[in-house]
Amino acid sequence: MSLFTKAEIRQINDCYDDLKREISKRFDPERMEKVDKAFVFANAAHDGIRRKSGEPYIVHPIAVATIVAHDLGLGATSVIASILHDVVEDTDYTTEDIRNMFGENVSRIVDGLTKLSGEMDSRQALTLKKMLMTLSDDVRVIIIKLADRLHNMRTLESMPPLKQLKVSGETLYLYAPLAHRLGLYAIKNELEELSFKFKHPEDYKHLLYQLHDQEEKRNYLVNEFITPIRERLAEEHIECTVTHRLKSMYSIWTKMRTKGVTFDEIYDLLAIRILLKPKTEISEKRQCFEVLSIVTDIYQPKPDRIRDWITMPRANGYESLHVTVMGPQGKWVEVQIRTERMDQVAEYGFAAHYKYKGIAENELDRWIERIRDHLQNSETDAFEFLDDFKLDLFASEIVVFTPKGKTIKLPKSSTVIDVAYEIHTNLGNKCIGAKINQKLVPPSHILQNGDQVEILTSENQTPQQQWLSFIATAKARGKIKDALRAEKHHHLEVGKELVEKAIRDHRAPLVANTLKKIVDHYNLNNKEQLYSEVGMGILKLDDLDKILARKSTNKFIKYWNITFKGKNSHLKESEEEEKGEEPTRLLDKQKPFLLKENADDITYSLAKCCHPIPGDDVIGYISAGDHVIIHKKECEKAEKLVGSQGNKIITAKWTKFKKLSYLTRLNLSGFDRTGIVSDVTNIISKQHNINMRSVKFDTHDGLFEGDLFIYIHSTDDLNTLIHHLGKIKGIDKVIRVENLND
Ligand code: MN
Repeated sequence: MSLFTKAEIRQINDCYDDLKREISKRFDPERMEKVDKAFVFANAAHDGIRRKSGEPYIVHPIAVATIVAHDLGLGATSVIASILHDVVEDTDYTTEDIRNMFGENVSRIVDGLTKLSGEMDSRQALTLKKMLMTLSDDVRVIIIKLADRLHNMRTLESMPPLKQLKVSGETLYLYAPLAHRLGLYAIKNELEELSFKFKHPEDYKHLLYQLHDQEEKRNYLVNEFITPIRERLAEEHIECTVTHRLKSMYSIWTKMRTKGVTFDEIYDLLAIRILLKPKTEISEKRQCFEVLSIVTDIYQPKPDRIRDWITMPRANGYESLHVTVMGPQGKWVEVQIRTERMDQVAEYGFAAHYKYKGIAENELDRWIERIRDHLQNSETDAFEFLDDFKLDLFASEIVVFTPKGKTIKLPKSSTVIDVAYEIHTNLGNKCIGAKINQKLVPPSHILQNGDQVEILTSENQTPQQQWLSFIATAKARGKIKDALRAEKHHHLEVGKELVEKAIRDHRAPLVANTLKKIVDHYNLNNKEQLYSEVGMGILKLDDLDKILARKSTNKFIKYWNITFKGKNSHLKESEEEEKGEEPTRLLDKQKPFLLKENADDITYSLAKCCHPIPGDDVIGYISAGDHVIIHKKECEKAEKLVGSQGNKIITAKWTKFKKLSYLTRLNLSGFDRTGIVSDVTNIISKQHNINMRSVKFDTHDGLFEGDLFIYIHSTDDLNTLIHHLGKIKGIDKVIRVENLND
C-alpha cells in the first residue's frame, strides 16, 4: 500500500513510463528488468516522501535517470544508479543493501554519489576535492551528479529565494565549469542559464526582452547570410544542415559586464553552424576544410580568426573548425563547421565517445590522469587544491613540442617550468632554463603556441620559491610546494638546533621569552621564521649578546600576558597564521589582512589585472574559501568589487618582504644615443636585489622606447630604480606599466 494519493501514483507511473520509452530502444529485456527492479525498490524506499514542490520525491531520481539516459546516452548501470542515487542518503538502506541487490558497480557509484551529497556551504573546496577523487575512480559518478544538479536547477522555482541564490551560486562556481571541462556543453549552458535566471532575475528578464525584440530582424539577417552558402553546398553535392545558434544569455550578460559594452555592441551574438554528413571515402577533416573554402569564397574571412580544432582537438575532446567572416550587412559572423559525430562530442562531451566507439585517443583520459597524479602526490589542503585546480579548469590551451616532436598541451601562459614538470618531476626540480627554437630562455619564459622546447637541467638546481609566482599549471604548483615543504622542514630542524645552541652558549634560559626577544629584534613574524631563516643561512645570530642582555620592559610583559596562551616553550603565533584543521578561517574584517611571504601560509594571491607589489596601496577581496585576492587600491576592477561586493572587501597591509620578488614592467622613453641601452642595464644589474627578465628596445627617428621586465621586491626598490634610470642622459620618462602582457 502506497502512502500517496491515486493522482500522485499516476504521476509517478507517467514519469517512469517516459524513462522506459527512452531506454527501451537501447536496452535488452534483461537490462530493462534490472531497471524495473531498481524503480520498484526506490519507489518503495521513498514512499510518502515529498519534495519542496509537493511532488512525490521519487519523481526526482527518475528525472535524473532520464537526463542520464536521454541527454547523456549512458548505459544501464548509470540509469540504475541514478534511480537509486538518493536512497542511501535519505532512507535507512545502506550501500551494503544496494550491493546485495544490484551488484558491485551500481553500489560503488551510489556510494560515490552519497558521499557527494548534502550541503556544501564552506566546504565547497573539500567537496570538489572529493568529487575529483571520485572522478578518477569512475567518471559516471560525476556525470550523474551533474544530471542531479541539472534537475535540481530545473525545479529550483519551489525553493525559498535565499536557497535559490545559494544553489545557483554554487552551480556557477563549481558545476558549470566542471561540465565545461568534461565537454558537456549542453549541460553547462543550461546550468549557466538557470543560475543566471535565479541569481539576477531582473537582468535576466531584461535581456530576454531585448533578444525577443530583435528576433525578426535577426532571422532576416540569418537567412540573407546562409542562403548563398546553402546554394553553393547543394551545387557541390555536399550533404549538410545549416543552422544558427544564439549566444547564451549568460555569456551575453557576462560579456556586457566584463567588457563594459551594451547589448547592441555585442557583435558575436550569432553563430552559424554547418553540420555535415561526411562521405565515407574521404577524411572528415578534408571535407570540413572543403566547406571552409566554400564559405570563404563567398564571404571575406577575418585574418587570424580561423580556428582548427580538428587537427588538434581541445583537451575535452572538442573538434570543430571555426572561421569569422564579414557578413552582407557589414557585421562579423562566426561560422562553425563540423561533422555530425563532432557535433555529438561537442554537445555531450566524451559521453558521446561511448556512442562513437573507435575513438581510441581520449584527451579526457589524459586529463583525468593528471588530476589523479595531482591528488596522489600532493599534500595540499582542500583550499589550496581548489585554487590550483581552478588554474587548470578555466585556462585555455596551447600546444608545445618536445625535441622529439611529441605534443604537450598546457594552459595558456605556461612557462618553461610548467612544461618541465609536465614531462617529469625530476626534470622540473632540476630545470635551469630551456632552449626554444634554438634560443636560450630562462625558467620563467612564457611559452607560445607551437614552441619546440628542450628543457635544460643542472644537478645543482633545486625548486625555487620564486617559481610559484609565474607558473601556470596545478601540477607544477603541487610539485614545487611539496619540494619546498620538505626543504623548509629541513631548514626548520637545522635552524632550531642552531638557535637553541646559540642561546645555550650565551647561558640564557631556553624559554619562550628569550625566543620572543630574538624574534622581535630581527623583526620577524614568529619563531618558525627565525628557525628557518637561520637554517637557510639568511640570518646570522650576530647580535645575540646585545639582545639577550636587554631587559624586558613592563609594557612588553603586559603584551606577553595577553597574547601568550599556555604551552610553555612555544610562542603563540599571530592570529593570521593560526591554521587549524577547519577548512574556513574566519577572517576578521575589522583588522587589516597582513600580507606575509611565508611559503606554507599563502592564503592570498596578487591580482593579475593590476599586479601589485609590496609597498603599493592595496585592498583585499575575499574570494571563495576565504582566499584573499590583493588588488591595487586604484585598480579599476577593485573599484568595481568595492562597489558591488563591499562586504567581501578587507583592508590589507604588507609586512616586510625580502625574499620574494615580483615581476614588474617599466616603460622608458627618450632620445636615442649610443650606449643608452647598456647604461640602463648597468644600473639594473648594479642595484642590489633586482633581476631582469627581459628588455625590449625600439628606436626610430632618433627617439627610443623600451620595456623592461624586472623582478623587484617592493615599491621602495622600484622608486629608487626609477630615480636612477631617470638620471641617465637622454632618458625622458620612466613609467611603471601595470599590464604585463604586450
Ligand atoms: Mn538528488
